Formats: sequence, C-alpha cells, structure tokens
Amino acid sequence: QAKARGRNGYRFYAPSMTGEGVERLRLETFLRRSIEKNEMFLNYQPQVEIDTGRLVGVEALVRWNHPELGLVPPARFIPLAEDSGFINQLGKWVLDEACRQMMRWQAQGLHVPKMAVNLSVKQFERGSIAGMVADILTETGLEPQRLQLEVTESVIMNTGDALGFINDLHAIGVGLAIDDFGTGYSSLAYLKQLPVQTLKIDRSFIKDISTDVNDEAIAIAIIQLGKSMQLSVIAEGVETEEQAAFLLRHGCKLAQGYFYSRPVLAQDMLERWTDPLDQPLTN
Ligand code: C2E
Ligand code: MG
Ligand code: MG
Ligand code: MG
Repeated sequence: QAKARGRNGYRFYAPSMTGEGVERLRLETFLRRSIEKNEMFLNYQPQVEIDTGRLVGVEALVRWNHPELGLVPPARFIPLAEDSGFINQLGKWVLDEACRQMMRWQAQGLHVPKMAVNLSVKQFERGSIAGMVADILTETGLEPQRLQLEVTESVIMNTGDALGFINDLHAIGVGLAIDDFGTGYSSLAYLKQLPVQTLKIDRSFIKDISTDVNDEAIAIAIIQLGKSMQLSVIAEGVETEEQAAFLLRHGCKLAQGYFYSRPVLAQDMLERWTDPLDQPLTN
C-alpha cells in the first residue's frame, strides 16, 4: 500500500488501484461522516506585509484526516463535496470554526487582523448565503470587517445572481477577495461592478516570476489593475526571497506562501506571531 507516514506523523492518502468509481464512492461515504467524527480540522496560512513582515491576516485551509485513508488533500475531496452537496455543511463548519478561532487567539493574546475563508461556487447555488454568514458572525462575536471571503472568478461568472449574493455579503460588512485571480475568465467590466477589496494573484504566475517574461507581465498587470481600481493585491505561493523582492519592487505589498509560512495549526500561530508585550497576564 502506498500509505507511508509523512513528515508530521500523518499518513498521506493515495488512491488505490481498485478503480476510480469505487474509490469515489468509498471517499464519498467516508466524507459524509467526517464532520461528526471530528476528522476535519483547519490549517491557517499567514498573510504578511512584504516590507515589514507584519502579520495582516490568515487564510483558513481545510484538512481531512481519515483514520484509514490518512490525510486527504482538499484538491481530492472538495470537488467530491461539491458534487454530493456536502460542501454546504462543510463550508458552514469551516466558517464557524475559523471565526471561533479568531476569538480564541484574541483571548490568548494574539491579534490576527483578518481571517480569509474560501467559498465554493456550490455554496452560492442555493441562494443568498449572507444569512448564514451573518448568523455565524453573531454567534461567534467576530466583527464582520475581520472576515474576508474568497471566491474564484468562476464563482462570479457561473452563478446566476452572483452579483446579488456578493452585494448581500458586502452589505453585512464582510470583505471579499477574488482568489486565483488571472486563471479564470472574468471580464474586467464585471470586476468593476463587484464590491471586492482584494485580488489574489494566482500562484501559477508567481512561480517563475523572475524567469518567465509572460508570468512577469501578467503579475505586473494585475498589480497595476489593483492599484488603479484601488484594490489591495496579495500574491499567493511566494516561496522565495527573490519573488518577494520582485513583488515589492512592482508595488505588490502583501504576500502569502511557504517563504513566510506553510499552513499551520492554530496553536503554532501563537508561538511565532504573539508579541510578548501583548500577552495577557496569567497568574
Ligand atoms: P487556494 O484557496 O488557492 O489556497 C492556496 C493553496 O496553495 C493551499 O493549498 C495552500 O496550502 C497552497 N500554498 C500556499 N502557499 C504555497 C506555496 O508557497 N507554494 C505552493 N506550492 N503552495 C502553496 P491547499 O490547502 O491544498 O488547498 C487547495 C485548494 O483547496 C485551495 O486553493 C481552495 O481552493 C481549496 N480549499 C481549501 N480549503 C477550503 C475550504 O475550506 N473551502 C473551500 N470551498 N475550498 C477550500
Ligand atoms: Mg483561497
Ligand atoms: Mg488561491
Ligand atoms: Mg490557487
């Protein structure tokens, strides 16, 4: 079996040879019970200001650790969750957990300015999700402006009343970011109408930024677009100092990627980012 213990003690999931259909069905069955069995957890990836290294936010990234399968990557189970409708339950769980975590960090003396949470296109298909988001904010006590929801261009282009739903979210005061920007086919005319505050440059453009002239041109164009539309721009997948320097030189102030930090557990955030002077006094 291709299941070896990985670096952090997790076994990593690798599809077996029993055929795609069987495998899918098995995964789907397991997936349906995953929340009640406490197999889902969140990792958080810091977002930083490039020139100061200051923490500006984190992105919540869902993880599934199944006792038999090991750690299943989101690229494998999110599409399945979307097809089976389970994504609505999962998306709500992620949002609730992420907002609660912000309050826990706060109580522990760590101020994380902003929490970014990914939304799936399927979560928009049932109608406005603003009510669900508003309920979670009320229950957890997180201020709306400290939550940023990430949607991809395909969400915007493939949802019937995307503009209406996004306006509803904007109305409750949460921030909106376009994820993987540049990989979809959103029209710039449409972008102009959306109440978004942030563009996330897809990591495929960042990868070869200092060697591939096309990627370089695209990244620069997105930074300029953001600037002229008064949007903040954050680069995803920054792995090297050279990439960070390039971005800063071209006016991109924010970044997220392995160069700064891999996605980590909530408690690991405390060690690296708590300012000792901000710690609450314990006994
Ligand atoms: P995304 O939202 O674009 O998230 C960024 C992905 O890039 C994450 O992969 C992250 O671990 C990875 N990444 C970050 N920095 C680097 C880097 O420097 N180098 C490289 N090579 N990769 C980097 P992950 O966690 O596997 O998530 C993949 C995708 O799954 C996410 O892409 C997002 O679309 C989806 N996803 C994750 N969590 C959720 C969730 O809670 N809800 C929904 N709907 N989708 C989620
Ligand atoms: Mg994202
Ligand atoms: Mg992304
Ligand atoms: Mg991406």
